[in-house]
Amino acid sequence: MSTRSEECSNIISVLACVLQQLCLRNDRIQTTNRNISKFHALRPPQISIKDYLARIARYAQCSKECFVLALVYIDRIIQTNHSFIVNSLNIHRLIITSVMLAAKFFDDQYFNNDYYGKVGGVPCHEMNSLEVEFLFMNNFTLFVTSETYDQYFTELCSHVQSSACGCTCKGDAAAAAAAPGLAAGYDPAAAVGVPIQAGQAMTDGVAQATGYQS
Ligand SMILES: [Zn+2]
Repeated sequence: MSTRSEECSNIISVLACVLQQLCLRNDRIQTTNRNISKFHALRPPQISIKDYLARIARYAQCSKECFVLALVYIDRIIQTNHSFIVNSLNIHRLIITSVMLAAKFFDDQYFNNDYYGKVGGVPCHEMNSLEVEFLFMNNFTLFVTSETYDQYFTELCSHVQSSACGCTCKGDAAAAAAAPGLAAGYDPAAAVGVPIQAGQAMTDGVAQATGYQS
C-alpha cells in the first residue's frame, strides 16, 4: 500500500476537496434534531477542511494510508446510518476521529486520545466519547480489505485527473509534497512533548475554530 500511495502525493488536498464537495451538497439539507450527533458543532468551524487535514497530517504524523482509511470509515457511516448527514457541522470531528482510529488500527506508532484531541481542537473526554460513538456507527469494524482500500485510493487519485470539480488539487500537489508532517521516522514520545509552534497553539485557536461546545 505504501508504495502505491507515493503515486498520489497530494492525497490530503484531494481528500479535502472530496469531503468539501460532500459537505457543500449536504449543507443544503435541513438538519433535524434527529440528525444531531456528538459530532455536530453549533456552528461550522472556522478552519477549512483542507487546513484541518493539513494540521492533522503535520501533527498526528500518521501514514498517508490513514487518510484513505478515514474516507472508507466515514463512507461506511454514511452507508449504514441513513439518518446521519455528513455536513460542515460534523465533518471536522468525523475527520479527527476517523484518522485517529485509522492510525491506531493501521500504523505501528500512534498517539493517545489526548494528543489527537489537542491536534483536532477537541477535549480529551470528548475525544474518548467520539471514538466510542464512531466505533458504534461503524459496527466496530475497522478492518478494510486491500481491494476496498485500492478502490478508494484509486477514486481519490482519479479525482485529480477529473476536471469536473474544478478544484485546486492539481495546483496543490507541489505545496502538499513540500509540506512537513508526513515524514517517516519520528519519535512519538518526543513529538508529544514538543510544544506546537507559536501561532499554531493546539489548545486555543483550533478549539475555538472547531466550534467546540462544552
Ligand atoms: Zn477536487
